Amino acid sequence: MKKMADFDKESFKTEVKNNVKILYRRDIEEATPQMIYQAVAYSVKDDIIDRWIETHKEYKKQNAKKVYYLSMEFLIGRLLGNNILSLGYYPQIKEALEEMGFDMDFIEDQERDPALGNGGLGRLAACFLDSLSTLGYPAYGCGIRYRYGMFKQKIKDGYQYEVPDDWLINGYPFEVKRAEYAVEVKFGGYVRVEQKEGRNHFIQEGYSAIRAVPYDLPVVGYGNNVVNTLRIWDAEASQEFNLESFDKGEYSKAVEQANLARTLVEVLYPNDNHISGKELRLKQQYFFISASVQSAILKFKETNDDIHNLPEKVVFQLNDTHPTVCVAELMRILMDEEGLDWDEAWDITTHSCAYTNHTIMSEALEKWPIELFSRLLPRVYQIVEEINRRFVLKIQELYPGNQDKIKSMAILYDGQVKMAHLAIAGSFSVNGVAKLHTEILKKRELKDFYEMRPEQFNNKTNGITQRRFLAHGNPLLAKWLNENIGEGWITDLSQISKVKVLVDDPKYQQEFMNIKYQNKLRLAKYIKENNGIDVDPDSIFDVQIKRLHEYKRQLLNILHVMHLYSELKENPDMDMYPRTFIFGAKAAAGYKRAKLTIKLINAVADVINNDASIEGKIKVVFIEDYRVSNAEIIVAAADVSEQISTASREASGTGNMKFMLNGAPTLGTMDGANVEIVEEVGAENAFIFGLSADEVMKYEREGGYNPWDIYNSNQNVRRVLTQLINGMYSPDDPERFRDLYDALTKEDIYFILKDFDSYAEAQRRVDAAYRDTSAWARMAMMNTACAGKFSSDRTIEEYVKDIWHLKKIKVDLPKKNTKTK
Ligand SMILES: *Cc1c(COP(=O)(O)O)cnc(C)c1O
Repeated sequence: MKKMADFDKESFKTEVKNNVKILYRRDIEEATPQMIYQAVAYSVKDDIIDRWIETHKEYKKQNAKKVYYLSMEFLIGRLLGNNILSLGYYPQIKEALEEMGFDMDFIEDQERDPALGNGGLGRLAACFLDSLSTLGYPAYGCGIRYRYGMFKQKIKDGYQYEVPDDWLINGYPFEVKRAEYAVEVKFGGYVRVEQKEGRNHFIQEGYSAIRAVPYDLPVVGYGNNVVNTLRIWDAEASQEFNLESFDKGEYSKAVEQANLARTLVEVLYPNDNHISGKELRLKQQYFFISASVQSAILKFKETNDDIHNLPEKVVFQLNDTHPTVCVAELMRILMDEEGLDWDEAWDITTHSCAYTNHTIMSEALEKWPIELFSRLLPRVYQIVEEINRRFVLKIQELYPGNQDKIKSMAILYDGQVKMAHLAIAGSFSVNGVAKLHTEILKKRELKDFYEMRPEQFNNKTNGITQRRFLAHGNPLLAKWLNENIGEGWITDLSQISKVKVLVDDPKYQQEFMNIKYQNKLRLAKYIKENNGIDVDPDSIFDVQIKRLHEYKRQLLNILHVMHLYSELKENPDMDMYPRTFIFGAKAAAGYKRAKLTIKLINAVADVINNDASIEGKIKVVFIEDYRVSNAEIIVAAADVSEQISTASREASGTGNMKFMLNGAPTLGTMDGANVEIVEEVGAENAFIFGLSADEVMKYEREGGYNPWDIYNSNQNVRRVLTQLINGMYSPDDPERFRDLYDALTKEDIYFILKDFDSYAEAQRRVDAAYRDTSAWARMAMMNTACAGKFSSDRTIEEYVKDIWHLKKIKVDLPKKNTKTK
């Protein structure tokens, strides 16, 4: 690794100036901030490239086993800052830029977030890549280069508007187009069977072909010279739109292919935990899977000559069911292109694929109509049929005459392809993402599969990278940690437990809370600039940032704010510690109730923030366009972490871990990874409320509960419900929030009213606890100190040990690679 001392500031400055000239034909004095950012990024990329090349030489030399992390989403966040951090000369570049008259934060702000994901699932994939590189494990991330990523959210008049995110508009400096590795992906047509040498050969004809062209992004390991690759695929028209095909009467086919290429990778579907069921989505899935599997096999063959050894060198990890077509595509390649018979191909496939389940919610379970699936992927569908036929035979052998088992486990049923069932049938490992979630999979959702093959199931509790969410996002706390417990935590988060010896010392308590205060000032400035709202940094910053979804219950949070406000209006002398409720959330474009909830939050904010009579005791802020880059700022400034999902619904959550690491106690339900957070930090250092997962699931088995029982018996609930429909927050249209009222009073399937009292009581505990400055500081510090388990480094080590079986590699840089130009 380039030692800090090796960094030559003057040659860096010269390089930046040169890059501005080369890229833009301008002197640096004439350059825009965007140009400076690009010039700096190219200079950093220059250093990355050497490490990238060396890493891949090493892989080849070792013939190393690699994991291919297949994911429709990689929510990587901005790369400039983290890449510099990983290279080890963040302070030096910051200083060099200052000497040139530029502010590092301002330059970093010029980078658009590559928003190639929706939320937690995509962010997890990004944290995993960071950990894989830092730990030195050979890995590829494989995904899609969406032309427009997650939409940008604009709030106008309290409503969400979706604006296309043209993240490539200025060019993305860290990507490298690898046209030489393009492959072809075929859609549609029909399958012709040919007898040759006593074997059936299956040939797809009359198809549309798309050229899949990879763009590689470097994933820079921290301080170890390892650079893995995130390979995202772009689509191009397969053949030149030429006169020849026009003459052959294939003009319309050529147009069709050009159009498909244009639309294929155009957008990321903005649904989180919900299927769109759109044909184009299935095309996207097959497109990036076929390209990724083809390229993995080509790479394998560079250093191996027996395809039977594939499982020793390659493992495909399926991030949710979105990449599940991998199972059938690998079968197709092994049989149709490598000439293996079914049993050989199945043996290889089922020793190469592993599946991660991310949700138990039925609306998120992927099913494709057989009609659509077979029309789009005729050969792959034949293979799925055969997988299903054999799988059903196995079920019948185990459970003779049991039709229910077939109904609950078959891959093809009721005219649909059930992707989770295909993923389980074709994988050697099935994992959940937190202990509670995995137990629910085994006991309920996937019970039949678990009973058939218990050894297939395992848990891998999610994690987050401390490099982004502490070292980069919270530089003040990072510095404090370095000074007091050393730098070991950056690559070994278990060492953060050393903070425990400081938690009772008033000096350290004060330092810790002063850092929190500085971070609150930074966020207050961001809010002032972006929302025009003044918030009080001495108030409690109570934060809920995550996708807007009914199960995450932002509605519970805002109903409680309405309740507090009513209490305060009735009793102006009420003893209440000033609180700033901060929200950030995107709603899927078509998710009406979620969008209405955003409007409600903003309507409540409007009323409360403009009521001088409450003397600023409550403020409500909805931060526009929640994304990775502002998450880093918000998390560092939080006093309270709202993780209030209906128990059993949040598979893990990772936002909860970011807050804990940054010293914000969890106000939450016993759901997902909250359970393990409480296990680590102790119940006395969290604010837990609400129904347990078992209680929720018991109510559900009984057909729900009756919300009117709560309505009738609970004045506070009745009051806020009435405010939803009496125009208090919508004087121009009292009916505006009727749908929310109806959802709560008719079924309340997310148990919001049921949990309301318990939540309000937990909020009172927060209010009381915050007043004891020293006790609160201790609690905040304990959260940081106990966050060691939640590093994605720990998660990755578990994947490696139990599923992937990779070997760490070392990369040494040849001497010449220092910036001494
Ligand atoms: C961490 C993260 C998420 C996931 O948050 P949850 O609270 O676990 O749902 C979503 N979006 C962004 C931008 C994140 O950084």
